[in-house]
Amino acid sequence: MRLSRYFLPVLKETPGEAQIVSHQLMLRAGMIRQTAAGIYAFLPLGLRVLSKIEQIVREEMDRAGALEVLMPTIQSAELWRQSGRYEAYGPEMLRLKDRHDREMLFSPTAEELFTVIFQNGAKSYRDLPRNLYQIQWKFRDETRPRFGLMRGREFLMKDGYSFDMDMAGAQHSYNRMFIAYMRTFARMGLDAIPMRADTGPIGGDLSHEFIVLAPTGESDVFYDEAWLERRDSSDVDASDADALAAYIETLNKDYAATDEKRDLDAEAACGARLQRSKGIEVGQVFFFGDKYTRAMGVSVQGADGTPVHPLMGSYGIGVSRLMGAIIEASHDNGGIIWPDAVAPFSVGLINLRADDPECAAACEGIYAELTAMGVEVLYDDRDERGGAKFATAELIGLPWQLVVGPKGIKAGVVELRRRAGGAREELSVETALARLTP
Ligand code: ATP
Ligand code: MG
Repeated sequence: MRLSRYFLPVLKETPGEAQIVSHQLMLRAGMIRQTAAGIYAFLPLGLRVLSKIEQIVREEMDRAGALEVLMPTIQSAELWRQSGRYEAYGPEMLRLKDRHDREMLFSPTAEELFTVIFQNGAKSYRDLPRNLYQIQWKFRDETRPRFGLMRGREFLMKDGYSFDMDMAGAQHSYNRMFIAYMRTFARMGLDAIPMRADTGPIGGDLSHEFIVLAPTGESDVFYDEAWLERRDSSDVDASDADALAAYIETLNKDYAATDEKRDLDAEAACGARLQRSKGIEVGQVFFFGDKYTRAMGVSVQGADGTPVHPLMGSYGIGVSRLMGAIIEASHDNGGIIWPDAVAPFSVGLINLRADDPECAAACEGIYAELTAMGVEVLYDDRDERGGAKFATAELIGLPWQLVVGPKGIKAGVVELRRRAGGAREELSVETALARLTP
């Protein structure tokens, strides 16, 4: 992509409306614009990041055996009356009427709809277990939308729902999602700690929130600092129910809880290792048994012929909130530092002298070659000073900057800079290209 033809409305000043760094940087880097309180437009650079986050979530859900569907955002009130949540949900639910005066709503979550849709394809125990998910916009009329994408009113969520015949199956489904979440957040460069949590309006018995530690987070959290040493969980065999359960048990052996689930005895046992912090909730998993299948009259035939209400779990990830959480975790004074996996482009190609024919020709060649190799390049071909180009490159935070200047080109070299850490190297064009291609 050539910057001269791109739509990148960067801002020099920090907008006064933004209180936290991720919101400030997303506005300054031309990624999003607010169109009404808590409602955002995604501009090209922002959409590229959102799509990458979404794709990682999708790949890990698919890997865990979940099946992607797409439900409508607008649902009928009738469906929600069956579960008793239409009145109970309160003013956070955006209620609408169609031209025939029928009551509708913009989905804030989708347990009811998934439950009745599931019934369409499941008649007997042979049709279970199943896990269905979607990546879809949600609307919650939050009292205080704020902090940009962190607490929006319209936001992108991955929501998934599992259906099992018995407790052992349901626990395994929960565990599979648990481990898929660990992997998902790790791939985005985030340390997300699973914490025992309250179930809130979803209801149910068992729940964990996945929390990224950050001073700007809205949740109060308490944990054993042993958690900070935990990393990769990619080697456990998730299809082996016992191995997975054992793994999750050891994972959860160290204390970590949100303030609603604080356990003072467990905290005393942590001693000096106890930490208190603020955190951002990037995902939550719930088990709630037959709460919805019973309420909605959904059942399947069991092995002995008697009808059974399947046991359900639901699993949410804040896809758009993650964009903010990643920036909160990875930035410096110059701007964003994208982890490779979610970067909008991997290389910023900077032409220091757009008016120098030799320099321009070298850049064109590099740009063509990287593009042909499948590397995502944003080529700063604008007629601007070097200083302005560097400032933009730092702000938008692409992992690599490839700097091409007239002196270097005469000597056959370019400069390769790593955004994270700032290491710089002078390399021949050939070596630089080899570094950047997979
Ligand atoms: P919170 O406690 O932050 O209000 P929640 O517990 O009500 O969130 P869930 O129902 O668990 O939210 O939704 C699943 C995920 O969707 C959350 O873990 C969070 O990452 C994301 N999410 C929830 N509300 C918002 C919002 N207003 N803006 C952006 N993301 C949100
Ligand atoms: Mg939650």
